[in-house]
Order: sequence, then C-alpha cells, then structure tokens
Amino acid sequence: SKSIHLARRPEGMPTAEDFQLITEPVSELQDGEVLVKNLWMSVDPYMRGRMIDRKSYIEPFKVGAVLEGGAIGEVVESRNDAFKAGQKVNSMQGWREYFISNGEGLTVLPETGAPVQSFLGALGMPGMTAYTGLLKIGELKEGDTVFVSAASGAVGELVCQIAKIKGCYVAGSVGSDEKAAYLKDVLGVDAVVNYKTMADLKADIAAACPNGIDVYFENVGGAHLEAVLDLMNDYGRIAVCGMIDQYNATSPVAGPANLSQLIMKKLKMQGFIVFDHWDGYPAFVAEMGKWLAEGTVKARETIYDGIENAPAAFIGLFEGKNTGKMLVRL
Ligand code: NDP
Repeated sequence: SKSIHLARRPEGMPTAEDFQLITEPVSELQDGEVLVKNLWMSVDPYMRGRMIDRKSYIEPFKVGAVLEGGAIGEVVESRNDAFKAGQKVNSMQGWREYFISNGEGLTVLPETGAPVQSFLGALGMPGMTAYTGLLKIGELKEGDTVFVSAASGAVGELVCQIAKIKGCYVAGSVGSDEKAAYLKDVLGVDAVVNYKTMADLKADIAAACPNGIDVYFENVGGAHLEAVLDLMNDYGRIAVCGMIDQYNATSPVAGPANLSQLIMKKLKMQGFIVFDHWDGYPAFVAEMGKWLAEGTVKARETIYDGIENAPAAFIGLFEGKNTGKMLVRL
C-alpha cells in the first residue's frame, strides 16, 4: 500500500520535496478490525497550517509520519460487526491507499444517491463551512449584498449559490477569467473581479458592489480584507473563514490599516471553525442534498488521479489549479 508522508516542514510554498511516497505491505487483520481501501481523498488549504509546528485548534502533522485528511473508502474485509465488506466509509485516514481501523472515527456513508466523493465536498466539510459561515456567522438576510473571496473554490462557489438562493446580490473575486465567466454565466453570480488582472482591487470590488457590502465571506485576507473593510455598509458582518493569502508567508503579515472601519460602521467580524458547528450537520445535509439533487446547486470537482499526485493537488490549491473541490482519486 502506498502512502504519502511529510518529509520535512515546508518553507513558504510547499514543494514536491516536502513529501515522501512510501510503499509498505498491508498487515493481517485482527479481530475487531476493518481493512479499508481509499477511493477518494481530499486536499484542503487548512492542511498547510498543520505542516507548521505550532499550537492550534488541531494537532500539527509530524515529520516522517503519514499525512492525514478526509477520505472516502470501501470496506474490503471486516472482522468488526459494525462494518460489512462493500460499505463506503468516511474517515480522516487520507493520503494512503489502504488502512486498518478498529472502527473508531469511521462513519458508514448514508445512501443518498449522491456520488460518494461529494461527502468530501458539497455534502461534507467545505459545504458545511459555506452554509454555516454564511447563514450563521454572516447572519445572512434576504436582499443583502454578499462579497465572497476565492469565490470559485470548494467553499466559495457554494457560498455564492446559497446567497443567490436566499435572494441576495452576490459578487466575488477569483484568479482567472474562466473562473469569472463560469460564476457569472452558469451560477448567476452578479459580478466577479479577477484579482490577478485588475488594476485597483478596491475600485474593482466597489464597482462590483455598487450598493456596498453587507456580508463579506472572507477566504483570502490581506489586500482583500483591507479593500472590503472600506466598502462595508453599516452593521455589516464579516465571516472570517480563511486567509489563504498568508498560509505560505515566510515573514509576519501586516494587518489591515483600516480596522477602525469596524467602529465607524459598527461591523461584526467573527472567525469560526466549522467543526464547532457540527451539531447542525444533519440539517445541512438534508438541505444541501435536496439542492444538489434538484440542480439548484452545482458543485464542481477538480480531480488528480493516483496517490503519487496528491502533493501536486495540494500545492495546486495555492496556485488556483482547482475549480470547485480539489480531490485525489486513488
Ligand atoms: P479552495 O477550493 O477555495 O481552494 C483554494 C483557492 O484559493 C484556489 O483555487 C485559488 O483560487 C485561491 N487562492 C489561492 N491562493 C490565493 C491567494 N494568495 N490569494 C487569493 N486567492 C488565492 O479551498 P477551500 O474552498 O477548501 O477553502 C477556502 C478557504 O476556506 C480557505 O482559506 C480555507 O482555509 C478556508 N476554510 C476554513 C474552514 C473553517 O472551518 N474555518 C473550513 C474549510 C475551509 P483563485 O484561482 O481564485 O486564486
């Protein structure tokens, strides 16, 4: 079985040398154990944070050890009464082809008719992040103007669509004209800024949001946050989901110069970690499952094949290589 280990802690942008592919035989199953073959694994921006040796909401990865992350697999063999061969299971045992489990942390996927890998995307953690961040943290109201950064990624494209369903004016920023065109032409996003080609980020976002911004769904940080703070409306909400612009920073990052806008405009700015809101997951799956099935929400996937390409897929997140959810098919 092949697996990917953390060879060393990345400095700045991760490179292929930070990862090591290891091949080992699969051990014999003991009583109470299950053998799972992974079919899909997720790569996510938060994993970059786990590669740094620091105290956080989640344990850092260990150098030399196999990496971890969301994965969907199939039970190949079971000596545990709770699992049967053929069942599809969700786990945090990604970055490896096979693994043996005592059942802890293994969830059998419900039969929904949705493709199994959607539990790593629209029906999983990124979907729940979009839903919770926008509706609960962002306190979304019908008629709000919503601005979303990294708007064509796994979380961002769902934020855009949920905000449209809720009757909002939606604008976003992305890193390519193709991404912008898809959001406008297919998803019905009202205005999209390409942050890589624009001349003046603040002027472009202002033009995209002529009535100001009521809810900012923050995925990027840096210049985006500073520009948006100036454009927020009174009593606006900023749901701070991620700051991918600084995940590979090698020196301290400057804060926005205009945080006093929080006072003048009486803004609320709140960070959140989706796992703290997991009690809302069943209600989310029911609603998102319905939207996906009826086609109200579209969730794209960018797929890299083979575990040896997992590091490239992960690095690709920081290069904008994905539209929608970045996945590795094993
Ligand atoms: P995405 O699918 O959005 O992938 C990352 C995207 O970010 C890329 O495709 C790229 O698109 C864009 N990007 C990369 N680097 C930069 C940069 N320097 N400046 C601007 N855009 C950049 O990832 P996710 O949807 O999984 O995650 C989105 C955000 O949400 C991340 O910040 C992540 O950390 C956060 N998150 C937070 C959670 C929480 O609980 N708080 C849970 C899940 C995710 P482009 O071509 O447009 O540049």
